[in-house]
Amino acid sequence: QETVYAIASGKGGVGKTTTTVNIGTALAQAGKRVAVVDVDLGMANLAGFVSLNPDSTTLHDVLAGDAEIEDATYRLADNIVAVPSGTGLDEYAEASPEGLGDVVAELRAAYDYVFLDVGAGISHETVLPLGLADSVLVVSTPEPAAVQDSKKTIELTARAGGEVAGLVVTRTHPHSDISYEEIASRLEIPLLGTIPEDSAARESVYAGTPLVVYEPEGPAAIAYRTLAADLAGIE
Ligand code: ADP
Ligand code: MG
Repeated sequence: QETVYAIASGKGGVGKTTTTVNIGTALAQAGKRVAVVDVDLGMANLAGFVSLNPDSTTLHDVLAGDAEIEDATYRLADNIVAVPSGTGLDEYAEASPEGLGDVVAELRAAYDYVFLDVGAGISHETVLPLGLADSVLVVSTPEPAAVQDSKKTIELTARAGGEVAGLVVTRTHPHSDISYEEIASRLEIPLLGTIPEDSAARESVYAGTPLVVYEPEGPAAIAYRTLAADLAGIE
């Protein structure tokens, strides 16, 4: 069974953190023990999505050798913890991504599912988690620029020795004439799910509450629960 997922994209701002937090929360609600980890070391922001204080001990402190992973692990709700990253430039400079392998190994042993919220782009610290995960979820909006950048993520995953599970298309529109299946088949990876455009997504970030809790019967929350259940083979 695959237990460690990396949530990745080429382009930024496509919905990786939203996807990480909501798939994780949905699986926790279904009784799985889940850890969501902000490995976007340069542009960390998962903490805000779940109302954690970014000034507390973070993954950066662990990677700098100044703390244990337990110290940077925070309970969010039943069955789910988060490991946030720091937001300061100095902490970023002191944290070495090389320690991520040990962090992932420890979390893998302690939780049913681990979701790594990976930074956009093609830097070393972005590529590393693609190889540490069992499976990579490539996230893209339908926009051509985002789809184009997904190709790089797929290629980098192969180079990192990782495995792509498939594509999640975010911010889709119900009456769009774009075929999301077609986008996935052009990328030569399976389409795992589509998440509709939903104003509650942004509102939930301001509320610091996962969408699946903030507006559980909204279209994006329903789509995230379906995707989570599909990944875990439940329901
Ligand atoms: P990334 O982690 O890839 O940078 P985020 O998850 O932070 O992307 O999302 C970027 C922005 O898009 C946020 O403001 C978020 O609220 C918004 N967003 C994400 N998914 C949706 C959606 N399905 N509908 C509307 N807005 C969305
Ligand atoms: Mg993000």
